[in-house]
Amino acid sequence: MDIGRREFIGASIGASLSGGFSGSAFGGKEKEVDYSALDAALKRPVLKRQLFSSPVKIASVELFRSGKFSFVRVRSGDGAEGVAVTNNKAQYVYPIFNKLVRGCFVGKDARDLDAIVDSARRKNYKLSGLALYCCIAWCEFAVLDMLGKIVGKGTGDLIGRIRQKEVKMYSASGNRGNTPAEEIKVLRDKIKASGTKAVKFKVGGRMSNNADSRPGRTEGLIRTVRKALGDDVTIWADSNGSYDARKGIEIGKMMAEYGIDMFEEPCPFDHLEETKQVADAISIPVSGGEQEASLHRFRWMIANGAVQVVQPDLHYFGGFIRATRVARMAEAAGLKVIPHMSGGGTGYVEVIHFASFTPNIGPFMEYKGGIEQTGKWYEPPLRFKNGAINVPKGPGMGVHIDKKVLSKAEKMV
Ligand SMILES: [Mg+2]
Repeated sequence: MDIGRREFIGASIGASLSGGFSGSAFGGKEKEVDYSALDAALKRPVLKRQLFSSPVKIASVELFRSGKFSFVRVRSGDGAEGVAVTNNKAQYVYPIFNKLVRGCFVGKDARDLDAIVDSARRKNYKLSGLALYCCIAWCEFAVLDMLGKIVGKGTGDLIGRIRQKEVKMYSASGNRGNTPAEEIKVLRDKIKASGTKAVKFKVGGRMSNNADSRPGRTEGLIRTVRKALGDDVTIWADSNGSYDARKGIEIGKMMAEYGIDMFEEPCPFDHLEETKQVADAISIPVSGGEQEASLHRFRWMIANGAVQVVQPDLHYFGGFIRATRVARMAEAAGLKVIPHMSGGGTGYVEVIHFASFTPNIGPFMEYKGGIEQTGKWYEPPLRFKNGAINVPKGPGMGVHIDKKVLSKAEKMV
């Protein structure tokens, strides 16, 4: 399936951003960009406050460790409870959580979650980055879980309208350094085992200033992978910031020639100018944003066509509210969003919920293995079948604390 650049860009862009870029040539840095549609998207409230008729005072926010899991538990003054499983960064950033972020949530009315998240950023903006926004995200996830349980609604219903109950995944391979033939076998095996209809493989050497992980691997893979996997598979490639603009353009043009459907992070994540140069020069969509911590930089990237698919990470970027604002800006520009998945295991639940209600969600979410780690955390448990994962049906995140995990839990202080 050739999900090409045009499909991602969509037809609404000219209408949405009148006076801005339009049509097939997304680049257009010479054109005047109209930010008004993006700013209107940014201002819309995210949490449906109207679902809650009375205040929900946040009485406590605590971070626990149990074996390899860490989780946040939020309790309201009335005894409602929400939990959220962290990613593996909690082991490094828990002092930020305890000393700087937790206090931004305790004592507040959870119905003001949009404002609480913004306030946690404002109070700690000097620390802007993954370490801060992960902590904000975990509190936000737990509060959403609690709010969902109070009104008997899933997370998606607290923010938008549920559009899908099964979310299609793509199989992501993290390999570098193997031969093209070995990697193609890996991709084939992943497709066979999972039933996915889309794959992503790594190119370049990861933030490597144009060096490959193995001489000739990238070009060899690009030249052979489409033929090997056939025309029914969507094929994406991710360089993790391996290239400067010149090399990124060379690789991107080769990708287009050999039927690769999307190029993720061609240039270092923070080199937005060079990323845009690549996007302007090649005919397939460029995606990016997994390391991005700033709403304003996403705004610039969207308005200026630095990427055609935005990829905020729900943990790294600070939660559903901030990621929804990015998705809405992208929607206003006719672009898709495919959140980055910051780890295997429990992180799927946020991505799956996000995909369930976001109108401009991309066609596939990232599957990088490890769903068995979710174990008994979700009710009903997450199930990966025929290339898709079910959206948990329970209220909130659909998460409950496994008794075994709970029995071993100790506070992270
Ligand atoms: Mg990536």
